Amino acid sequence: MCGIVGYLGNGDAYPILIKGLKRLEYRGYDSAGVAILENGDLSLFKCKGKVVDLENIVDEDSKTGGIGIGHTRWATHGVPNDVNAHPHLSGDGKLALIHNGIIENYASIKEELKSRGHIFHSETDTEVLVHFIEDVRSKLNVSLFEAVRIALSEVHGAYAIVVLDRENPNQLVAAKKSSPLVIGVGKNDDYYIASDASPIIEYTKNVVYLDDEEVALMDRKEGLKIVTIQNQAKTPYIQALELKLEAIEKGGYDSFMLKEIHEQPRSIRDSFRGRINIQNGFVKMSGIDDYRDKWLNAKRIIIVACGTSWHAGLVAEYLFEDFARIPVEVEYASEFRYRNPVIFPDDIVIAISQSGETADTLAAIELAKQKGAFIFGVCNVVGSTISRSTHSGAYTHAGPEIGVASTKAFTAQVTVLYQLALGVAQVRGTIEQKDVIKLMAELNAVPDQVEVALKSNDHVKEIAAIYKDSRNALYLGRGYSFPVALEGALKLKEISYIHAEGYPAAEMKHGPIALIDEEMPVFVIATQGQSYEKVVSNIQEVKARKGKIIAVVTAGDKTVSELADHTIEIPKTDDTLVPIISVIPFQLLAYHVAVMRGCNVDQPRNLAKSVTVE
Ligand code: GLU
Repeated sequence: MCGIVGYLGNGDAYPILIKGLKRLEYRGYDSAGVAILENGDLSLFKCKGKVVDLENIVDEDSKTGGIGIGHTRWATHGVPNDVNAHPHLSGDGKLALIHNGIIENYASIKEELKSRGHIFHSETDTEVLVHFIEDVRSKLNVSLFEAVRIALSEVHGAYAIVVLDRENPNQLVAAKKSSPLVIGVGKNDDYYIASDASPIIEYTKNVVYLDDEEVALMDRKEGLKIVTIQNQAKTPYIQALELKLEAIEKGGYDSFMLKEIHEQPRSIRDSFRGRINIQNGFVKMSGIDDYRDKWLNAKRIIIVACGTSWHAGLVAEYLFEDFARIPVEVEYASEFRYRNPVIFPDDIVIAISQSGETADTLAAIELAKQKGAFIFGVCNVVGSTISRSTHSGAYTHAGPEIGVASTKAFTAQVTVLYQLALGVAQVRGTIEQKDVIKLMAELNAVPDQVEVALKSNDHVKEIAAIYKDSRNALYLGRGYSFPVALEGALKLKEISYIHAEGYPAAEMKHGPIALIDEEMPVFVIATQGQSYEKVVSNIQEVKARKGKIIAVVTAGDKTVSELADHTIEIPKTDDTLVPIISVIPFQLLAYHVAVMRGCNVDQPRNLAKSVTVE
């Protein structure tokens, strides 16, 4: 969730830390801090607020020094304030530590340390950890590297940490479990460390992804050393980073979210490029080819995900049942992991996560693995923990998604799951080849159709201006459009803080209809297809109660246009592909409403991008 940056090298740490923190700010940002060491002086600055607030409090003299750590916090233990912000210091003031995650047994460690005279200033679990490392180091008289390893062997929970020692300007020590950390190895033995590669790519392409329960020592003299918590030496595996700098910059847009919405024609195409052969109607995915028997014999698919990825999972449920005739259950990973689910060895579990770091989804994967299921991951971030902890999978290839509210990751997830469902249906012989060829041709047309849907931007903006002050909104859809109703509502609430609910259109009369009056905007996906007439009836029901209808319709539609207060046209496609296109106006609508309400669309309050806590 939060952002971690560290630097040990020949340049000045401060500018590298600040730039890196800004790149990572999307991950979590209620407070920020840096610690910089120069000539034995440790300068510590931290405050509630954004990285710009931090910049305002750092004095000029402290901006030099070739070793430092920086953090943006997403509070879990203790409110966002200056004291709880990271870095945290050990009791003797020698160690400074930044931490992403949660130390679950911090309370018992804290009690024990307190009984031995440790005094704590913050409410965080993190401060307990740095005191604990100090305690282990002095008690056992071991190096910092060793003290971190021993202390972490007694810690439960999730962490990515970086520690610096005031008395040793040649070292940084880092470790991780369930939260990502990547080390960049630069020229002249410069080391960079961060929660993801975005703060690093500008300086080096050579990176080492730390694995869970690994502790790393970056040392000017000894180089890079890695051991496991169990004290097994590991050879650092240096790999070349493929990420490009432009991919993580705004490229002329006002926000990452707007840029990412507009990138969708490309990102959708990238998510099927090389995977489908439109002429022959074949899907080429190694996750199917290498595990044909698994897909052939699967009795059930369980999809585990959270948030927007869960909505993509709902679309996939319909697709797999339609095409491949496999029963599917879609589960919130957070519920699944704690309720003793029934999992059989011939179940396939599909885990969906943009970041590939989602803590609940990871835990669900581990549980399903223990019960013998085959696990397939759908992630966006290459090299992420989920991509490494599943048996097989497919990347979405959407490119870095930085806006907290997911847009292009959703459409890429649905596109990948679409191909997977088609390919699995072929393996199981549940779909006719002529239908596959037809659907692939339709899929191939989707990027251009999304381009057309994006042209509704100005019209959507006008609609946004009319409804921007609404206190509530309802989103309705049926069949393949039901998950889009959920996703549309989620987008609106995430970034504009308007209360919004998504419902299956027919379910409205079992409750939400009570909310409808002349104040209530009701957004409906009413494209022509299987349940068109039924949705038209639901629109009538809303109109009869004076609700305002904003309908997403198929280009040229007359019937709904006569009933609705506003319509937004999208190109015609097969029912099964509508979600990828109909979600576009909802993304634009949420964006414009949020901007008009003065909200920060890229960094909505209380939310973080990569949810690495449960
Ligand atoms: N648990 C720590 C805290 O509340 C770290 C939170 C984070 O990941 O930013 O300070």
